[in-house]
Amino acid sequence: MRKYVIMGVQGSGKGTQSQMLVTDLGLVHIGVGDIFRWNVQNHTKLGAQVRRTMAAGELVSDDLVEEVVRDRLTQHDWNFGFIIDGFPRNRRQAEFFLESYDIDGVIVLDLPDSEVRRRVLNRRLCANCGMDYNLIDSTPKEAGKCDMCGGELITREDDTEEALAVRLREYHAQTEEVLEIFRRKEYVFVVDARPAPEAVQDQIRKCLALPPFEPGETGNGRA
Ligand code: AMP
Repeated sequence: MRKYVIMGVQGSGKGTQSQMLVTDLGLVHIGVGDIFRWNVQNHTKLGAQVRRTMAAGELVSDDLVEEVVRDRLTQHDWNFGFIIDGFPRNRRQAEFFLESYDIDGVIVLDLPDSEVRRRVLNRRLCANCGMDYNLIDSTPKEAGKCDMCGGELITREDDTEEALAVRLREYHAQTEEVLEIFRRKEYVFVVDARPAPEAVQDQIRKCLALPPFEPGETGNGRA
């Protein structure tokens, strides 16, 4: 059983790296932001509660986040373990998490703010399957269409200059606190997120003492 946390500023490749980790290791990827986005897109009650907060780049309340994480983890579909992305984002969430789960490793994807801006403002997302694209270095084969499922590519509502500035401020303000908690109790590995996705994945696997990434296993090595 392997339980990992992946942290990093928006656009650092948490989703991509998590996807590359999960398939051949049989892990489950839990993207807390993805769960919220799914609820917004599907007009659920939870979606209505979080839509405005998310669009402004602000954090959803800890109570709601903890409920979502608890519900997701009690599904127990993670026999081989999980990698959780986008959580915990502040001290309270970190303490809540560590009370209930042992963690085997915390990966921190490190990316300078200038590169974050360049990536996030060029990011597109498949409205159907959630696959991430980047108009700079991972363009879809057909403009505006997802390579995997043909779905429409859209811009995330919070991928704007204004919302990004809020998210960057919030990230820097809160992350150090979370890392301090993890450093005291767990394993924290900082990985440079600037290289190509496969190179970043190799570094992650070395840190976690995992077998090398086999691109054929996921069919997905994009940014
Ligand atoms: P992400 O996909 O990780 O960038 O998350 C998108 C948005 O979902 C964030 O800007 C927050 O509004 C919300 N969100 C995701 N994870 C959390 C969390 N752990 N705590 C609070 N809000 C969150």
